[in-house]
Amino acid sequence: MQKGKINVQTENIFPIIKKFLYSDHEIFLRELISNAVDATQKLKTMASKGDFKGELGDLRIEVMADKKAKTITVSDRGIGMTAEEVDRFINQIAFSSAEEWISKYKSESDTSPIIGHFGLGFYSSFMVASRVELHTKSHKKNSKGVKWACEGTPEFTLEEKPRKSRGTDVVLHIADDSAEFLEEPKILELLKKYCKFLPVEIVFGTEKETRKEKDDQEKEKEVTVEKPRVINNTSPAWTQKPSELTEEDYKSFYRELYPATFEEPLFNIHLNVDYPFTLTGILYFPKVKQNFEIQRDKIQLYCNQVFVTDSVEGIVPDFLTLLHGVIDSPDIPLNVSRSFLQSDASVKKISGHITKKVAGKLEDIFKNNREDFESKWDDIKIFIEYGMISDDKFRERAKKFCLLKNTDGKYFTLDEYRDHIKTQQTDKDKKVVHVYATNQEEQHSFVEAAKEKGYDVLILDTPIDSHFVNMLETELENVSFTRVDAEVADKLIRKEDEMPSKLDEAQKDKLKPLVEKHLDEKNFQVVFESLSESEPPMVITQPEFMRRMKDMSAVGGMNYMGALPDSFMLVVNSNHPLVGKMLDEKDEALRDKQIKQLIDLAMLAKNLLKGEKLTRFVQRSVDLF
Ligand code: ADP
Repeated sequence: MQKGKINVQTENIFPIIKKFLYSDHEIFLRELISNAVDATQKLKTMASKGDFKGELGDLRIEVMADKKAKTITVSDRGIGMTAEEVDRFINQIAFSSAEEWISKYKSESDTSPIIGHFGLGFYSSFMVASRVELHTKSHKKNSKGVKWACEGTPEFTLEEKPRKSRGTDVVLHIADDSAEFLEEPKILELLKKYCKFLPVEIVFGTEKETRKEKDDQEKEKEVTVEKPRVINNTSPAWTQKPSELTEEDYKSFYRELYPATFEEPLFNIHLNVDYPFTLTGILYFPKVKQNFEIQRDKIQLYCNQVFVTDSVEGIVPDFLTLLHGVIDSPDIPLNVSRSFLQSDASVKKISGHITKKVAGKLEDIFKNNREDFESKWDDIKIFIEYGMISDDKFRERAKKFCLLKNTDGKYFTLDEYRDHIKTQQTDKDKKVVHVYATNQEEQHSFVEAAKEKGYDVLILDTPIDSHFVNMLETELENVSFTRVDAEVADKLIRKEDEMPSKLDEAQKDKLKPLVEKHLDEKNFQVVFESLSESEPPMVITQPEFMRRMKDMSAVGGMNYMGALPDSFMLVVNSNHPLVGKMLDEKDEALRDKQIKQLIDLAMLAKNLLKGEKLTRFVQRSVDLF
């Protein structure tokens, strides 16, 4: 037996491994199984090239837990190692890479987490084990079995130990403070998380299955057989050719990824790049719930089918983190921090590519099946709007297929819509005014009034639409957006021809305080407008600019605007007969009652009349008879 001392600078590296990766102890299993997969794949490659002529046999990787002995064993039938190789790969290379990894991790001034904790490899075992044994036999002819053991100090033993089969067993003697990893449900959870799509079959323990069999005398009896539990799907959809997959295959893979989701995805995008970087994957547009409660962190990142993380922030553009699916790329640097990642050139390319593919797919559907695209629009618009707001490149492409929907349920592209409304809705400054409602129910009277004027009304009801219209106003030339209740219908689109006012300034000055007296709201301003007689005598409007700023700050991105109050205008129609009548009314009590009634009617149309005021209004209305 050879006893040795691993050549280390740091006297004892293991407590450091434990300490620095405190929250991520569980990755030991991924690291060991990845090594087993690599060893197996290497052997398969050698066999296919004729460099290995022996029997491949069953290449499944086995994970076993023995609660009594407190061990977890990972066994493979891959290339194995000779004694020299153990010394080189485990004592020297693996150790120095672990040491290097730790010094890097320790000196990292940036505390943002490292993506996958990849690269620590074999020595991550010491995060959970007090003793690690490695039993191995190389695939090379006439190799002898080797046993290596280490107890978490720099000392190790290496000896010859007869072994029948080719391959490697790594036996972890689990430390007392890591006993949770001996529990079957815990191991299953980790295997499901990290190994679900590994390219070599992984089996865990055994499941018992009872079935009926006939014995020698042809009598039926029940027998219990053990059947190994296969953990993974070795050829997940994203590793297959798109041409070989049907819509149903994509859908069933979606269910495999998200067993708890019942909704079907709207459509998918198969990513498949091999130059200038390697990237495969499938992204899905999920069906958005009505309340816009969108879940991020649904995209899983893999590296050669090994699960790395489900937080892809920094790797895919922000707006695409709303999508679901899988990305697999060996070219994403995993042992670096996230802030480094964002400035990494290859990651930038990857993220740019994904954006391009997503835009391309949407454009395809739009061009080839507009009807289908329109039917999905309500579900996908939030992604597209968010993408257009946050990503310049995406915005340029999406301008072609971004749709606007009007209150009649018709869809238009941005260009189509401008053409549709420009005759009726161009104002005196040559701006094409897009009139929109954010809530058709609440803004009903305003929508009707605008339609009455011959205007078309859009429906823009997502929480980010205030940001969206702001962006469109800067992007599109000579276009402005106004919510239906920002002005009285007559003034929504300011034309040259101003209507003359029936009331003169003196009359307005006389009436104004009479109205103000009954308006006990601080954030209201009384203004006179000369409108047509068919417009109501009083209307409450909410000027576009202030309202939009407030809405925008509510969804974020403009925090300094957070404390804005709502501000309203009480517009008095100086041409309405009732307004003129009020001015002439001699009975003051009656006049006050009528003014109150008109204010309340305007409040009611704006959905502002609530509580005590509503009760008083109802009472006053009955008294009028
Ligand atoms: P990495 O896998 O990143 O190279 P590790 O520390 O995990 O680093 O492993 C070091 C080396 O030890 C591997 O590169 C491989 O050559 C060898 N090795 C580890 N596990 C096995 C195994 N199960 N079978 C064969 N060789 C192995």
